[in-house]
Amino acid sequence: MSKTTAVLTDKFGRNHNYLRISLSEKCNLRCNYCMPENGVPLTPRSELMTAEEIYQIAKVFVKNGVDKIRLTGGEPLVRKDFTEILKKLSTLDVELGITTNAILADRFIADFKKYGLKKINLSLDTLDEGKFRVITRRDQFQKAYDNMLLLIDQGFNVKINAVLMKYFNEDEINDFVLFTRNRPISVRFIEFMPFDGNKWSKDKLVSQEEIMAKIISFFGIENVLDLDNEPNFTSRDFKINGFQGNFGIISSVTNPFCDGCNRIRLTANGKIKNCLFSNKETDLLGAFRDGENIEPLIENRMFKKKAKRAGMDSFKKLQNPEKHSNNRSMITIGG
Ligand code: SF4
Repeated sequence: MSKTTAVLTDKFGRNHNYLRISLSEKCNLRCNYCMPENGVPLTPRSELMTAEEIYQIAKVFVKNGVDKIRLTGGEPLVRKDFTEILKKLSTLDVELGITTNAILADRFIADFKKYGLKKINLSLDTLDEGKFRVITRRDQFQKAYDNMLLLIDQGFNVKINAVLMKYFNEDEINDFVLFTRNRPISVRFIEFMPFDGNKWSKDKLVSQEEIMAKIISFFGIENVLDLDNEPNFTSRDFKINGFQGNFGIISSVTNPFCDGCNRIRLTANGKIKNCLFSNKETDLLGAFRDGENIEPLIENRMFKKKAKRAGMDSFKKLQNPEKHSNNRSMITIGG
């Protein structure tokens, strides 16, 4: 990992070299853990970053040590100028990735290849068409599934992100692991996290411990191999002996990985968030439009970053709705 300048280094010495940019607050699905049932008020278009503004603001981050950019949303591919944004960002010296629900991905395969976007995280919480309809409130399972297979077939580095919920898709944990048998992909199980309006409760949480217990009881402990974690890992990775792919667990609730956090988020309306759970934001876009130098603003926001989960350093604090109800819903944070 590259060293960042003082602007992107927080008071705990963490280097923030990974910028996640939300391109849109809109999505073509309506996942119930991501978006409140009645939707979210959308920011007027004029207040969203344009392609050029995204590029110029990203350039400031790259100058200060960012070497990895992930495009998120909402759904980033619904943005009409997605290709223009990708083209501009591809001129920066960064590794590019995207998190998408894959529904529109087939239209962008050529652009991904042309502009060097190789890392694709797919949000897919179930392999069952009926459950997909329930969770996303849309009937698009086949499209998402076919595009996932297409992306794997086209040689992209594919990771599937599955948010697990009790009594809903926890019975699919081993099906997802089996999905990695003959495919060079990674499945990451994500603990259900609290955000504005997503009706989080600890009773819906499937913990890292429970996930591992299910996998071990099905495959046998001798077949579950522990993989080395990458620096700044967000998931603890494993594989089943003999399988081509692997799986990981993102345990932001029961066992967070904040010590090595290197992530910064930029919302579609140009606000910087120093942590996924933080409800404090700094408006970079407004300052940028006023011709101000945005570096001191970034530095200040990063300096205020808390050691762990925006100060919710215990499970008890995380369970307090007052602590997270002022945070945005996931759809407007960008995962
Ligand atoms: S909870 Fe916040 S500090 Fe911890 S890893 Fe996630 S973004 Fe980083």
